[in-house]
Amino acid sequence: MSEKKQSRVRFAPSPTGMLHLGNIRTALMNYLFTKQNNGDFILRIEDTDPARNFDPGAKKIIADMQWLGLDYDEGPEKDGPHQPYFQSERQKCYQKKLHDLIDNGSIYRCFCSSEDLQKRRARQIALKQPPRYDRKCMKLTHAEIQEKLNKKEPFIWRFKLDHDNKITIHDLAHGDIIFDPKNFSDFPLTRQDGTFTFMFANFVDDALMNMSHVLRGEDHLTNTAGQAALFIALGLPLPTYWHLPILANIGGKKLSKRDFGFALHDLKQAGFLPEAIINYLAIIGGGTFAKEIMSKEELIQNLDFKNISTTGQVKYDLEKLKWINHKWINQYEPSQLTEQCLPFLLAEFPEIDNLDKKKLTQLIQTIKSDLTTLTDVTDALRFYFKEPQITKKLIDQHFDSQLVGKLKPLIKKHLNLLSSPLSFSNEIKKEAKEQNIKIKDLFGFLRFVLTGQLHGPSITDLVEMLGEDEVKKRIEKVL
Ligand code: GLU
Repeated sequence: MSEKKQSRVRFAPSPTGMLHLGNIRTALMNYLFTKQNNGDFILRIEDTDPARNFDPGAKKIIADMQWLGLDYDEGPEKDGPHQPYFQSERQKCYQKKLHDLIDNGSIYRCFCSSEDLQKRRARQIALKQPPRYDRKCMKLTHAEIQEKLNKKEPFIWRFKLDHDNKITIHDLAHGDIIFDPKNFSDFPLTRQDGTFTFMFANFVDDALMNMSHVLRGEDHLTNTAGQAALFIALGLPLPTYWHLPILANIGGKKLSKRDFGFALHDLKQAGFLPEAIINYLAIIGGGTFAKEIMSKEELIQNLDFKNISTTGQVKYDLEKLKWINHKWINQYEPSQLTEQCLPFLLAEFPEIDNLDKKKLTQLIQTIKSDLTTLTDVTDALRFYFKEPQITKKLIDQHFDSQLVGKLKPLIKKHLNLLSSPLSFSNEIKKEAKEQNIKIKDLFGFLRFVLTGQLHGPSITDLVEMLGEDEVKKRIEKVL
């Protein structure tokens, strides 16, 4: 994006559920876009529908934004020139704009009941006509309206689309888009209980909060026509739009709850790092990069909005996300990685609480190359916290008894070298070679004795991790 002017963008989630990858990607694109030109990023909570508000005070959204590192410049729990940032607290602003629209004759009262509307809609569909509001109430006379008001008939306010003029919006992804208002219904601005609709509140806030750009999912494209019409009706400058493709799963279907990782909550629980999620969501559908593992700051530097996929699908590939997570785990600052792993370890091994952090960090650093997600740390370190029960039966299952017969005395002979893990491992290796025993067999057996696993850290690392006494104890039990 070559525009260098200061921008103001917003992420405007409805607190109707948990944040998911689709809306996080929208938030991220807004964030990166505006931070590339020193602009502002605003969080606005679109809670106009109390019945569907599952996150009062947007506490979860705010916590998730913090966890992801998407810091906003204005929004809930922060001061800002356009407070409040909850739509449920902005009734006065909507009321005022509604009056402006009444004054300039752009809206009318509609008394049609929802049953009537449904019947008329069904009739239009049966006649193969496009289902649109038939403007019945636009034709009411002043006296008829007055009579209905006197009878206290419930009504809503509808916006009167100007059928004589097409609406043009500028979209950075799609170029100029021209809508013919004849293809749309005169849409409601209020509900019968006097509350305001999403269409209207969203427009009022974008106008009052001076949004320069509106970046959101393609699923909002049809709302854009009506919202642009509202800007035009009040003589306000239109924001520049950017409608982003909706995320799809690997099979090409719209990403949904059924796809693992769709909900941020799932990814958190499965041990994905916030940096990895951000990194992944920024680079999918973003062209090719010389280097794929990037911090938020590097993404701001390197993401070229010209290369962002604007059409078709952006596919969510869990395997790629896992790969990025693995890379992030391996480049994380050691003590921070320990902090991230700690909750997973504590859940499995509560006794860890009294282990010193330095030792824990050393353990995690030794096994981190085996981790795809943070949850893997429990399996990778299980041998350390819980001594494996190595029975003869288990050994027989995995190793040839003749081989074991040779390995036991070989290992036993060198136990006195354990205080130096490297010499111990070098010496047993040397002797194994002399006896024509494969090193792979020797180390495989020893690793099994120490960890109960066939794969894992090197013998030197294992001796280092467990310490001389523990290693001796575990080996002697088996020998
Ligand atoms: N509240 C809308 C949603 O959650 C966002 C609308 C917008 O970004 O304009 O889908």
